[in-house]
Amino acid sequence: MSQPQSPQNQRDLDPLTEILKSMVKPSAEEIALVKKAFAFAEHAHEGCFRHSGEPCLKHLTETARILAELGASGTTIAAGLLHDTIEDVGVDRALIVKEFGEEVAFLVDGVTKLGHLKYKGTDRHNESLRKLFVAMSEDIRVLLIKLADRLHNMRTLSYVPKDKQRRIAEETLQIYAPIAYRLGIRKINRELEDLSFPYVWPKEYESMRKTLKEQHIDRTESLEKFSRSVQKTLAKGGLTKAKTEYRVKGLYSLYKKYLRNDKDLEKIYDISAIRILVNSVAECYQALGVIHERWRPLPHRIKDYIAFPKPNDYKALHTTVFVGDGNIVEVQIKTHEMHRYSEYGIASHLSYKAGRGEKDVWAWIHALLPKSKVNNEKDLIKDVPKWIAELAAYEEPAKDQELFQKGLVSDFFNYRIFVFSPNGDVVDLPVDSTPIDFAYSIHSDIGDSMTGAKVNGKLVSLDMALHNGDIVLIMTNENAKPNRKWIDMAKTSMARRHIRHGLSKLRKSDRDD
Ligand code: MN
Repeated sequence: MSQPQSPQNQRDLDPLTEILKSMVKPSAEEIALVKKAFAFAEHAHEGCFRHSGEPCLKHLTETARILAELGASGTTIAAGLLHDTIEDVGVDRALIVKEFGEEVAFLVDGVTKLGHLKYKGTDRHNESLRKLFVAMSEDIRVLLIKLADRLHNMRTLSYVPKDKQRRIAEETLQIYAPIAYRLGIRKINRELEDLSFPYVWPKEYESMRKTLKEQHIDRTESLEKFSRSVQKTLAKGGLTKAKTEYRVKGLYSLYKKYLRNDKDLEKIYDISAIRILVNSVAECYQALGVIHERWRPLPHRIKDYIAFPKPNDYKALHTTVFVGDGNIVEVQIKTHEMHRYSEYGIASHLSYKAGRGEKDVWAWIHALLPKSKVNNEKDLIKDVPKWIAELAAYEEPAKDQELFQKGLVSDFFNYRIFVFSPNGDVVDLPVDSTPIDFAYSIHSDIGDSMTGAKVNGKLVSLDMALHNGDIVLIMTNENAKPNRKWIDMAKTSMARRHIRHGLSKLRKSDRDD
């Protein structure tokens, strides 16, 4: 329903006023901080221009505005304004600490570090790379700034040299859009996908656009009419306060569905959809009854996601009906709260419960606080969304702001590290793992014949603890043998098991000699 905004979409207000206006109930301190960061960025990026010909400052104010619209705090918005100062114009970190404090500097640092992680263009490791992104960001606010940064870069991608466009769009589609999706920020997810689509799959984009265009006018008119008569029918059925909205599906999500459905558009029933928003669960079922009484539903298309929510906690009733003019339309019935949840994820869920209004989505961050140990750590490590979902179950937003800030460094980030092999493969290991663990996690033969290790190009001792993002090279020699001392140096039980096994093989062959 929302169109991506083009860079030509100029506004009348000056950029600073725009940011301040988009902020959600900012305190005097937050306003002062954002003003100061704006002035600093304006000065630091003076004379710098983007491929689009616009001053670099525009990129920073747009990043900040996206964050403000998400409901971010002054600290995060200030860091958004400053996010390119260290990398692009060589501002000293110490100066940011001095002017804005350690927290803002930490966020800017985090965004800078994430910028060094490069997408290697292989599907095989995309999931690891997404996890690495999440782990390296350390703080969810760093991820949000990075998402806002990328969103503005994607809005202006047409100005970037052709040879770079595709890689940037692919990275967006494989890494950033899924992260936005999993964080529950559907709006950013959809826009990132639709902006990347034409660059990554140009032919498919064109044909999808054409197919949809041929039917579009027809559909929109039909939908409008249908929507009005749904509204009337609901009112007659006693649901006078129900709201209806309609939409034609986003191009990329339509394309994905098209692929899943044997490339048969006829099989996709939710190209056109109507959303009915009501006030309670009981009214959802009442609305379904009213709709089915009036329009004939397609068999096997009635889904009760209220009684049986989707794994991502999506709730709604879905049905698909024959409109009568030859079109079929999916009808989604939700409460207002369910709808907010599907658009903003945990964000809206918590802020709604806290009664702080629709725009105050920042409260969702509270959900990431590790308030108590999560029951199943293995699931937690494997599955970031589950982790988020579990934490979302904590309903009390943190009261203590300071505790809240500290708690942002979630337990998750303390469980695992992600390191690279020299050719870019990502391996995730428990914290404090050593090159020995790394070697055995690749292959027991590599572990058994290890003679040494280089981390980021430097020779290291085999008991050195690895860190996120390290590039680890294991040196081997076919005559080398595992060493008993390694058992104590290894962190993973898998490596220890392999070492013991390797040692016992050695003893055996000694005896055999
Ligand atoms: Mn940037």
